[in-house]
Amino acid sequence: MNYADAEKIATVLNKLNYQQTNNEKVADLIITVACSVRQTAIERIYGKAADWQKIKEKKPLITILTGCVLKSDRLKMSKFFDFIFDIRNLHDLSRFLVRDRFSRSLPKFDYFNIHPSYQNNFQAYVPISTGCNNFCSYCVVPYVRGREISRKTLDIINECKNLIKKGYKEITLLGQNVNSYGSDLKNKVKFPALLKTIADLPGDFWLRFVTSHPKDLNNELIEVMAKNKKICRYLHLPIQSGDNAILKKMNRKYTREHYLNLIKKVREKIPGIAITTDVIIGFPGETKKQFDNTIKLFREAKFDMAYIAKYSPRPGTTAFKLKGNINQKEKEKRYNQLNKILNQTALEKNKKLIGKILKVLVEYKRKNFNYGKTEAFKTVKFITTKDCTGQFVDVKIIKAQAFGLEAILVK
Ligand code: SAH
Ligand code: SF4
Repeated sequence: MNYADAEKIATVLNKLNYQQTNNEKVADLIITVACSVRQTAIERIYGKAADWQKIKEKKPLITILTGCVLKSDRLKMSKFFDFIFDIRNLHDLSRFLVRDRFSRSLPKFDYFNIHPSYQNNFQAYVPISTGCNNFCSYCVVPYVRGREISRKTLDIINECKNLIKKGYKEITLLGQNVNSYGSDLKNKVKFPALLKTIADLPGDFWLRFVTSHPKDLNNELIEVMAKNKKICRYLHLPIQSGDNAILKKMNRKYTREHYLNLIKKVREKIPGIAITTDVIIGFPGETKKQFDNTIKLFREAKFDMAYIAKYSPRPGTTAFKLKGNINQKEKEKRYNQLNKILNQTALEKNKKLIGKILKVLVEYKRKNFNYGKTEAFKTVKFITTKDCTGQFVDVKIIKAQAFGLEAILVK
């Protein structure tokens, strides 16, 4: 989401005649798109801000902050940043940067309908909603991004049509909970219908989406995925915990049984689908036994990949007030334990791909290798002097690691 937001910010800056640089030492302006999901990301911003203060002593530099910022950080951050704005009000950014702020010639920037400066010409992120109404007890998103707002269906479809016309090969629809798309719209178009409409557009492209909430993933979506070849056989479905009592405390509104049934159904209807997840370890009061339930679930679910996060208390969330902090050392131990299982199941899955011919979208070339992703979001490298960046190619898998595949080019 932050990546997509940065592309929108780039458009505003381009319109105001700024040019992009990769060297922060020569930059006149630096905008940070913050993430507040975990404290570590915030710490990094404080570290960076201190570096920029030093640059500011030597030359003019404007620093601006946007993205997800907690109220409690906002005040502290204001010392380091010249301007803080809400990402949904891109117009505030242009008003700040233009000397004649109320000039009539100042273009209007609308968050959803700004034409983003896509970072490449074959993959694009397309936000379909912002914010979240779920209030998982650990999560800061509903506080920093606000309530869920769905983007107009036609605007999404038009953006996708344009991308396809330009030859884009991969479109990723973005939302904190894509499954609840449309509940605030007058036309009541739901996510499965939106997905189907986009997948039915003529053209050679892959369609992805993140994130799905297990409480809202319904049969209709599974059917649409199963029937349409352009929708990648890939599902990111965050579990967060394998223990029912912890899930309840997290306010996730499903059980481990529901989750396991769901992925069973998904795998039956969409053979070969890759399933990945997010999980939090060391939620307040998580006992060893409860953590064991997460371990067991990982053994059963056999994920292709997982983002394992150590619980980070976020001020303002309801979990923040919960007792039973798990110390860092114990979190580390649990992390390693779970990671080991994940590595095993991921490797097992990847080994089954050896000898298979898979379609890959090449993302870049480095030295004699091309690197890309399969439909299942697995990284593949293959040797060739050609640069196939931005193209679909067929490769034969010859080697498997837990999180990467090696292949030879077929065509
Ligand atoms: N909307 C998405 C995810 C948003 S945040 C969803 O519901 O899945 C991305 C991930 O960060 C979450 O899935 C969760 O695993 C992790 N996360 C969120 N808050 C966290 C916290 N306080 N501590 C550790 N991890 C957290
Ligand atoms: Fe956070 Fe839960 Fe919303 Fe995801 S669904 S953004 S974890 S509150």
